[in-house]
Amino acid sequence: MDVELVTVGTELLLGFTVDTNSAEIGRALAAAGVRVVRRTAVGDDVTAIRTGVSDALARTGAVITTGGLGPTADDITKSAVAALFGVRLVFDAAVWTALVERFARFGRVPTDNNRGQAEVPEGAGVLPNRWGTAPGLWLEGAPGLGIMLPGVPVEMRNLLQQSVIPRLTAHQSGTVIRSVTVRTTGIAESTLAERMGDLETRIAPLTLAYLPGVGSVDLRLTAWGFAPADADAALAAAAALAAERAGDHAYGRGEADLAASVLEELRRRGLRIAVAESCTGGLLGGRLTAVPGSSSQFLGGVIAYANETKQHLLGVPESLLGEAGAVSEAVAVRMAVGAARALQAEVGVSITGVAGPDGGSAAKPVGTVWIGLVLPGLEEAVLRTLVGTRDEVRGRAAQQALYELWRRLRSLPE
Ligand code: AMP
Ligand code: MG
Repeated sequence: MDVELVTVGTELLLGFTVDTNSAEIGRALAAAGVRVVRRTAVGDDVTAIRTGVSDALARTGAVITTGGLGPTADDITKSAVAALFGVRLVFDAAVWTALVERFARFGRVPTDNNRGQAEVPEGAGVLPNRWGTAPGLWLEGAPGLGIMLPGVPVEMRNLLQQSVIPRLTAHQSGTVIRSVTVRTTGIAESTLAERMGDLETRIAPLTLAYLPGVGSVDLRLTAWGFAPADADAALAAAAALAAERAGDHAYGRGEADLAASVLEELRRRGLRIAVAESCTGGLLGGRLTAVPGSSSQFLGGVIAYANETKQHLLGVPESLLGEAGAVSEAVAVRMAVGAARALQAEVGVSITGVAGPDGGSAAKPVGTVWIGLVLPGLEEAVLRTLVGTRDEVRGRAAQQALYELWRRLRSLPE
């Protein structure tokens, strides 16, 4: 079954409210085997709502709207959709009673202004809303199926889960849409696509999508309209193949976090880590400490932004800073060594680079980043040339440092 979404609210078009409802509905319906094939956002305007819903119904025959069901003058979804279906709004005594009871719990009495909230399109099914005042509405008629949900995310979510999905899946044949994500890093999207080769034809009818982020590319594999157990088996096989082809760029599945993977590898080997950060100013330490329980492996770090700090706290020789420059292989190594020594850690990682937008030169353009790595039996630095804004270069530098460390840890004995 296919549906379209129409989100209603001028605040969505102005960008004051981010449309989280669409994303949630897309995910929840996919899990239930219902495909969202298109979404439209419209303002609080009768014509826009009516046209948006009517066009969607003409294409797909089933529409879910969110928003515009409240008590104020700008809440007009109900009347716009009722008019489209050619039905009147009628007073519903049960909805009114529920409203009176809800108000009573807050020590209030509804006024005549609230009576409009108890009006429903004639013939519509009422989806009781225990989380707010406006019920959801289920309207079937000549134009198709129109499902109206409130805009407040918690109300939308509860009505969707408790009323809409059970009703929609009653018509379904027990199929689901499921996805698995294989996370990769340290490889460009186009290079990754080359590595995947004929994967898409091998895994068909499963589909593959590339989702690039800052310092990572997710491979999203999706099974459409499978029985649940078949979907899981097909996805597991496809994910294994994708991970194998991505090689050591694939670091986890689903919501896996590279910092958590690094900490896990450290924990297995009984190693503790210290960091020294220049251009990332604490982002690497931030990524590591964001993981619960990191204190057993992460000792701390030095934000060595100024050259004096690199000298005084990390023991980087002044002569080296003068000769090689702060952004150099030798300084990166000395920073990592200095951090490990200062904090008595077995592992040290450093980042020194040109984050931009200024400060680049022909020899060291913006995006030049050296990552220093000190592990048992190893001292080295790797050069990365990163693209993007200052924020992106910094974020990618932290991600790359985690990746280079993760790879090296995995080749150490446990
Ligand atoms: P409404 O049902 O139109 O009165 O919407 C009530 C509130 O729900 C709005 O003020 C928004 O904060 C929120 N809201 C409406 N539509 C959305 C949406 N698509 N995604 C997230 N929040 C929304
Ligand atoms: Mg609104």
